[in-house]
Amino acid sequence: MVPEHDILVVGGGLSGPLTALALAAGGFRSVVIDAAPAAPRTAPDFDGRAYALSLSSVRMLEALGLWDAIADDAQPILGITASDGRPGEGASPLFLHFDAAEIEDGPMGHIVEDRVLRGALDAALAAEPRIAHRPGIAVTAQDTGGPVARVTLADGSEMTGRVLIGADGRRSGTAARAGIRRTEWGYGQTALVAAISHERPHEGVAHQFFMPAGPLAILPLTGNRSSIVWSERSADAERILALPEAAFLDHLRPRFGDRLGQIALAGRRFAYPLGLSLAADLAAPRLALVGDAAHGVHPIAGQGLNLGIRDVAALAEVIADAARRGEDIGAGDVLARYQSWRRFDTMALAVATDGFNRLFSNDNPLLRGIRDLGLGAVNALPPLRRAFIREAAGLTGDLPRLLRGLPL
Ligand SMILES: Cc1cc2nc3c(=O)[nH]c(=O)nc-3n(C[C@H](O)[C@H](O)[C@H](O)COP(=O)(O)OP(=O)(O)OC[C@H]3O[C@@H](n4cnc5c(N)ncnc54)[C@H](O)[C@@H]3O)c2cc1C
Repeated sequence: MVPEHDILVVGGGLSGPLTALALAAGGFRSVVIDAAPAAPRTAPDFDGRAYALSLSSVRMLEALGLWDAIADDAQPILGITASDGRPGEGASPLFLHFDAAEIEDGPMGHIVEDRVLRGALDAALAAEPRIAHRPGIAVTAQDTGGPVARVTLADGSEMTGRVLIGADGRRSGTAARAGIRRTEWGYGQTALVAAISHERPHEGVAHQFFMPAGPLAILPLTGNRSSIVWSERSADAERILALPEAAFLDHLRPRFGDRLGQIALAGRRFAYPLGLSLAADLAAPRLALVGDAAHGVHPIAGQGLNLGIRDVAALAEVIADAARRGEDIGAGDVLARYQSWRRFDTMALAVATDGFNRLFSNDNPLLRGIRDLGLGAVNALPPLRRAFIREAAGLTGDLPRLLRGLPL
């Protein structure tokens, strides 16, 4: 039987559209099915979230022709500072500073607002004849046991493809229906996310301030604005979120510090409960998982979407190479190559973010001493510092072609 599509993508968040666009670059026809309606996702107050896209993620967006629509609104990351301390007391004397000038590749990444990235993806999906977009309808059933993959939609209609790709987030129904188990736990923390305007320029430097209740990330946006990802214990976060604007800022100031001058809210506030969610398998015959459907991690390192982008680049390359060799792109042994390529990186980042959060989100004096020494030691050793910068820029490991900026 000849399937209608090459690829069925379930989920139209960020990983789903990126998967379809990467595969379209290799000549594959996809349909992207998304339970969320096609509401405009580009309003300034749609989401206060912004992503720290690593240099290799940016290279993939360039290779797919998406970066031109994003570049003018993206803030280059020229430095990263990490410090440890308590609210109101400022940072401890030992801290870590990475400068993009220490590596030859240029800025280690860019900060891109959610609405800008989604706007670029929506426009690219609409312009790509190889992609059909079905927003506002959920997939309710699937069958990957036969020679083609088949999904059933909420209206009872069916679609077929050679491969079913689950890009349907942390609660992935695609994974659950395939019997793929998940390891999950909550951190008892909630991230408060908002855009903040400030008096003085940030000079492109991102800050991570580790406090006993959780880290505060200050990510530079274009202009005199930054996006904050402020992790607090969940009960405290709920209380802070509900405060009027002036009281919210009064709570933020002792954590944000005064180096950027006066601060104000530059949009709405959002709250995201934090947890870890890892799928036991990333692939099965006719099925693969990408993005948060495969792994939802703590935002402490700002790597969640970058990890999803690495999945997309690896999966697209495995599928494109299999097709060139005349293999069935949905065969179990083909998709197992994707799983073995991605499994180590996924596990390593999940363990690292989990460990960092446990090490830094507490007030234990012994751990405080150890982590301050650790930050100071890395800062004092240029080769180690450069290794961290290359890691943050996503330049390490066995990189798929798209992440090196090469065509699929
Ligand atoms: C506070 C916070 C800050 C973050 N900061 C960063 C950062 O700085 N850098 C970074 O790289 N990452 C960051 N991340 C992580 C990043 O936001 C996620 O990794 C990314 O958004 C996941 O995208 P996704 O497309 O895989 O999943 P989702 O965005 O969850 O999309 C899943 C989609 O699937 C659809 N869906 C679900 N079920 C069905 C169904 N049955 N049928 C059809 N469609 C379905 C949903 O409607 C949804 O559109 C952060 C996360 C948080 C919480």
